Amino acid sequence: MAYYPDLSLYTYYSPLGESLTTLNVGWLDRVHVYPQGEMSDVFTERLWSFCHKPVLKTRGVYGCDFCPKANRFDIQRRGDEELLLGTAQLRVFGQGDTVYAAPDLIYHYVVAHRYCPPAEFIQAVLTGPLPGSSEYQERARAHDWWDEAQRWWKILEEQR
Ligand SMILES: [Zn+2]
Repeated sequence: MAYYPDLSLYTYYSPLGESLTTLNVGWLDRVHVYPQGEMSDVFTERLWSFCHKPVLKTRGVYGCDFCPKANRFDIQRRGDEELLLGTAQLRVFGQGDTVYAAPDLIYHYVVAHRYCPPAEFIQAVLTGPLPGSSEYQERARAHDWWDEAQRWWKILEEQR
């Protein structure tokens, strides 16, 4: 997985040209120092619900750069739920037209490695629409990843 500075313009996977208001968050690696802090349970709970409805699913799995090699690809647990992270991205809607593009591993970075995302991203996760809501759908509709995301969500829903 590539490294991108937080809030830089998203260009990683953009076959049709993603909107110019999509910003990177949480594309960490071990070479670059990242801000650390304690995140609230409310925040991690909401971020987890984004992980249940990811976008741009890939066939490969990206492991965590900070974990020892032996458990780089461990299943992430929250309560009695389990998810394999490192296979997709999240889209979080912020103020105006702003969209945040994060790897789904961002959840793991927060809970396991004390990553503290930018304040505006935290705010967007806490107060923005959750995937699955009609408000989320309304905003997602304009984006090229939306059709594929809906197909994935249906498959994930059936697997549960
Ligand atoms: Zn890790």
